[in-house]
Amino acid sequence: MAEIHSLSTGRLPPIPDDLTVPQFQLDTIDPTRPLRHANIPCLVDDASGRQIYFEELRERTRGLANALSSLYSIEENDVVLLFSRNHVDYPVAIWAVHRLGGVISPANPDFSRSELEFQLKATKATHLITHPDVFETAVSAAQATGLSLDRIMVFDVQGASPTKLTTVDQLVQRGFQMKAFSERKLRPGEGKTKIAFLSFSSGTTGTPKGVAIPHIALIANVLQLAAHSKVNENYAEWKDRRYRPGDVAIGVLPLYHIYGLVVNLHFLLYCAMTVVVIPKFNFEGMLKSIVRHRITHLMIVPPQAVLLCKHPAVKKYDLSGIRYIMIGAAPLTDEVNEMLFNLFPEAHIGQGYGMTETCTVTAIWSIDHKRGMSGGAGQLLPGVVARVLKTDGTLAGYSEIGELVTKAPSNALGYFNNAQATKETFIDGYVRTGDEVKITPDRELWVLDRIKEIMKVRGFQVAPAELEGTILDHPDISDACVVGIPDEYSGEVPLAFVVLTIDAASRVKRNPSLLHEIRQSVLKHVADNKIKYKHLAGGVEFVESIPKTPSGKLLRRVLRERAKELRKAP
Ligand code: AMP
Repeated sequence: MAEIHSLSTGRLPPIPDDLTVPQFQLDTIDPTRPLRHANIPCLVDDASGRQIYFEELRERTRGLANALSSLYSIEENDVVLLFSRNHVDYPVAIWAVHRLGGVISPANPDFSRSELEFQLKATKATHLITHPDVFETAVSAAQATGLSLDRIMVFDVQGASPTKLTTVDQLVQRGFQMKAFSERKLRPGEGKTKIAFLSFSSGTTGTPKGVAIPHIALIANVLQLAAHSKVNENYAEWKDRRYRPGDVAIGVLPLYHIYGLVVNLHFLLYCAMTVVVIPKFNFEGMLKSIVRHRITHLMIVPPQAVLLCKHPAVKKYDLSGIRYIMIGAAPLTDEVNEMLFNLFPEAHIGQGYGMTETCTVTAIWSIDHKRGMSGGAGQLLPGVVARVLKTDGTLAGYSEIGELVTKAPSNALGYFNNAQATKETFIDGYVRTGDEVKITPDRELWVLDRIKEIMKVRGFQVAPAELEGTILDHPDISDACVVGIPDEYSGEVPLAFVVLTIDAASRVKRNPSLLHEIRQSVLKHVADNKIKYKHLAGGVEFVESIPKTPSGKLLRRVLRERAKELRKAP
C-alpha cells in the first residue's frame, strides 16, 4: 500500500475556494443542500429555551458586523479572541468578524490568566469577546498584555451580574441602525490561504501553537462529512438517515475546540438540524437537557461516554429518543464501546477521528453500518489521502503499523508565526498526525498509540512541555518531565517526575519530612497556574535525574514505562 485514497462511498463536490465561512454557511444558495426549513430553529439556548432561526442568525451577524466595523474598526486580519463558554451568539461573533476579513482565535473559557495571556500575545489579538462567567480573567489578562478595556465585549446572559463592558447584544441592536459594513469577498482561490481561525494545539511536540486554518478548510470538512453521510442524497429510508433536518443535537462540546466548532456547530447547521447550546458541561444537567429538548444526537468525548454507561443517575431519565452517538477526540475503550451498544440498541453509534491540524474529521464510521467497529476509528472521509509511515521511513502496507500522515482539503496551512514547527509537521501538503495506526484491508483505521508528546485528558490536549515549564518555575525544582498515566474516566492524567535543586536536596537530607511539603507545594503551584485538566492528578515523583539523550532531549518513553511500573505497585 503506497497510500490510501479514501474510497468512501460519498462523492465529494467541488469545494468553493472563493467563499468565507459565513458566505458558505449563511448566503450560498445551493440546490443540493438540505432544505432550510423556516420552521426549524438552528439554535436553542438550553437554560431559557430561546429559539434562534436561520434568518435571525443571519440578521444578528449583519448587525454585529456593522457595529464591529463602525465602532471598533475591525478590519482585515485583525485577530479577535473568543474567550467564552458556549453561547447562542458564539457563531454570530465568528461570522461577523469573518465578514470583515478578521480572524477568530477561540480559547478555553476556563483558562487561567496566564494561559489566556499566552494566547493573546501569541495571536497579537486586537479585540476580545468574553462571557459574564469569566470576564474577570479576561479583563486581567487583557490589562497584562496592554489590550485596553474598550476593546473587550461580553456576551449577554440573563441574570448574570452586570459588567461595565459593552455587550454583544447592545452592539447587534445598534448595528441594525448603522450603515452597512463592506463585506470582505475572496478572489478565486483565496479561500485556500485566507486565515479564518487560529485554534491552539501543541502538535507533535512542544508548547501550544496557533494552527492557521483557512476558510476553505472548514468548508471542506463540512462538505466531506456531508458527502460521506450522503446528506444531500436520497440514500436511505427517512428513519435510517443519519442527519435529518429537524433532528436535535446536544451542544455540550466546547465550541472553542475544533470538534465542537466544525462538527457540532457548522456541520449540523448545514444539515438543517437544531443544536441546543449548553454553556458548561454537567452530567446530570446534560441528562435533563436530553429529556427537556428531546435530543436525538449526542456528539461527545470518551469520558462522557463512560458516564453514560456507568453513572447511576442515567436510570432516572428517559433516553429512548437518542438515535445517534458520535464519540471523538480521544481513544474509546472496547469495553465502553460495547456497553454503549447495549445501552442504546437501536442507535447509530461510532467513533470519529481527527485533529485540529486537519480541521477536524479525518475518519468516521462507515455510513453502511449503523454501528462502528468496536475499537475502530472509522473510514477515511472522501478527499482524504493517507500514508502510514513505518519507523524506518518506508510506507506500510495494509495492517502494518506506523505513523498516520494525511492530505485533505481541510488541512490547515501550518502554525502561525512558527516556521520551524510548521516545517516539521506540514510536509508536502501532508500533516504528520503523531498517531500510531494501522489500516486494515477493509479500510478501517485503528488508532493504536500516540507517538507525539501530548496527553489527552478528558479529550483536552495537555502539552508536557508546557507543564514542565511551569514546574521549573518552582524554586525547589531543577528539572522535570511530565508523562501521562492511564485513568479510567479521564483517559490519562499527568504525572510529573521532578529533580530537586541542590539546595532543596540538602534541606530534605536534614529533614526528610520536607519532601511531602515540597510535593504538595509543586501540586499547588501547578494548580494555581493552570486550568483544572492540566493539574498533576497522576502525582509527583522525585528522581535523581531525568534520563536524556546525549543531545539533551528528554527520554519520555523511559519515564512513561517507569510511571506504569510505579502505578502498578501496591
Ligand atoms: P485535537 O487536535 O485536540 O483534536 O487532538 C487530536 C488528537 O486527539 C489526535 O491526533 C489523536 O491523538 C486524538 N484523537 C482524536 N480522535 C481520536 C480517536 N477517535 N481515537 C483515538 N485518538 C483520537
